[in-house]
Amino acid sequence: MKRVAVLTSGGDAPGMNAALRAVVRTAIYYGIEVIGVKRGYSGLIKSDFIPLGIGSVADIIHRGGTILRTARCEEFFHREGREKAVRNMVSAGIEGLVAIGGDGTFRGAVELEKLGMPVVGIPGTIDNDIPCTQWTIGFDTAVNTVVDAINKIRDTATSHERVFVIEVMGRKAGFIALAAGLAGGAESIIIPEKPFEVGDVITKIMRGQNRGKLHSIILVAEGVSGALEISKKIHEAAGLDTRVTILGHIQRGGSPTAWDRILASRMGAEAVKQLIQGERKKMIGIKGDAIKSYDIEWALSQTHEINMQDYHLSAILSI
Ligand code: ADP
Repeated sequence: MKRVAVLTSGGDAPGMNAALRAVVRTAIYYGIEVIGVKRGYSGLIKSDFIPLGIGSVADIIHRGGTILRTARCEEFFHREGREKAVRNMVSAGIEGLVAIGGDGTFRGAVELEKLGMPVVGIPGTIDNDIPCTQWTIGFDTAVNTVVDAINKIRDTATSHERVFVIEVMGRKAGFIALAAGLAGGAESIIIPEKPFEVGDVITKIMRGQNRGKLHSIILVAEGVSGALEISKKIHEAAGLDTRVTILGHIQRGGSPTAWDRILASRMGAEAVKQLIQGERKKMIGIKGDAIKSYDIEWALSQTHEINMQDYHLSAILSI
C-alpha cells in the first residue's frame, strides 16, 4: 500500500484533528503517503485533495473542529456520486480511505467499499451513539463542556433559588445528558431512552425544596422535548420560578480533553494498521482499554445501549 486518503465527515467533534494527526503520522511511519480530502465525501466527488506531510498536522492536537473541514453531501447518497468519488480516488493513486465521522459517515463508507475501495471508519461524534465502541472521539470533551456550564448555572441557581432546565445535544440518544447529569449532580435527567412524567420531575423538586434545597438542575436531551416546554409545564403545574438554558453548539467546540486526544491517537494509528493488513470494511472501537476493530456493516446492525445503572444511580444520589 503506497497511498491512503483521510477525511472528516458529518458533524464535527473535538479530537478529530488529533485523529488526523495520528493517521498521517502513523502512515508516514510505515512509508505510506497520505492525501487529505476536504469537506468529507463532497471532497471525494470534487477531487478536493491535498497531500498531508508530517508538518501538515503539526500544532493541531489541541484544536477543536477539523482542519480538513467537514460537510454533509447529498450527492454521495446516489450511486453516480459514489462512482465518481471512486474514479477520482483511483486516478489519484489512492488505495484505501480512513473516514472519521458518525454513523452516517460509516454508512457512506460501506457503500464506497461495495465499489471496490477499502475503508476504515473512526467514530468521531460528540453523541457517543455508535455501536461497538464505549467511547467516540469528542464525547468526553462535550460532557466536560456541559459539566462546566452546569457548575456555573448552579451558582446563579442557588443564589436565586431557582429551577434551571438545561437542554443538551442528543437527538436520538441521551449519552451526553446522562454522563453530564451524573457528573454535574443534576436533580433530574430526561433522556430519550426512558419515558418520563413532568409530575415526577416536579415531585422531586418539591421534595428537595421541602428539605431546604436551594436550587434544582434538570438536564434534558434535545431529542425528548424542548427545555422551554418542560420549563413551562413545571411553572404552570407548581408555580416554580424556572429558567431555561439551551447550550447548543458550544458543546461541539473547544480544545479536546486529554482522553479524547488519547482515544483519537490510538484509533487513528489502528485505522492505518487495519488498511495495511488488507482489511476492507472495518470500524475502530474501544472496549475497556483495548482498541478493537469490527466489520462496519455488522457494527451498524448492533446498538450502543445507554448505561441504565448510571441513570438509576443518578436518581439515588440526587434525592
Ligand atoms: P454523521 O457521520 O455525523 O452521522 P451524517 O449522517 O450527516 O453525519 O452523514 C454524513 C454523510 O455521509 C452524509 O452527508 C452522506 O454524504 C453520507 N451518508 C450518510 N448515509 C449514507 C448512506 N446511507 N449512503 C451513502 N452515503 C451516506
